Amino acid sequence: MRALYIGRFQPYHLGHHEVIKKIAAEVDEVIICIGSAQRSHELENPFTAGERYLMISKSLREDGILNFYIVPILDVNWNAVWVSHVESLIPPVDVVYTNNPLIERLFRERSYAVRTPLLFNRGEYSGSEVRRRMLNGENWEALVPRAVVEVIKEIGGESRLEDLRRSDEC
Ligand code: ATP
Ligand code: MG
Repeated sequence: MRALYIGRFQPYHLGHHEVIKKIAAEVDEVIICIGSAQRSHELENPFTAGERYLMISKSLREDGILNFYIVPILDVNWNAVWVSHVESLIPPVDVVYTNNPLIERLFRERSYAVRTPLLFNRGEYSGSEVRRRMLNGENWEALVPRAVVEVIKEIGGESRLEDLRRSDEC
């Protein structure tokens, strides 16, 4: 069985990681789509698709998980054709895992089986909370896998966010 999981992963955090580890244990292969792949260098979307790719693959490999494939997906800004757009870029999948109600509806309307995984500590494990902590000098490192800390440090992620906030305020 092949499963699909979609997120923006800005950045990849322990909530995503727990869910994907569970899915990877349940199915033969997980296709992980990086949504809004073209977006980066924005306060809500600071990281490039390549950076997010690195965060996800290093984190999963470090935990011994290898049955995943990562596919970046550009926005089409056209919900009615979005599932076809995703289908054009991924191998066939049997089931879609998502907590996003719009993604759930769009795939169900195309007759996909959709499962909604449990949320892990959603109060803290969210991309918005990680970005908020990075901007406020708080402990964001506790919310992401170790490999993500390394990638964000390597690319100067904290100073990038600070610069993005400065240019937003000018
Ligand atoms: P943002 O706050 O930037 O929207 P996010 O944490 O919601 O980030 P996304 O990349 O938007 O992350 O979400 C991808 C998928 O991961 C969504 O289906 C979302 O519901 C799910 N998800 C997010 N946080 C958790 C969590 N703590 N536990 C399980 N799933 C989560
Ligand atoms: Mg979200």
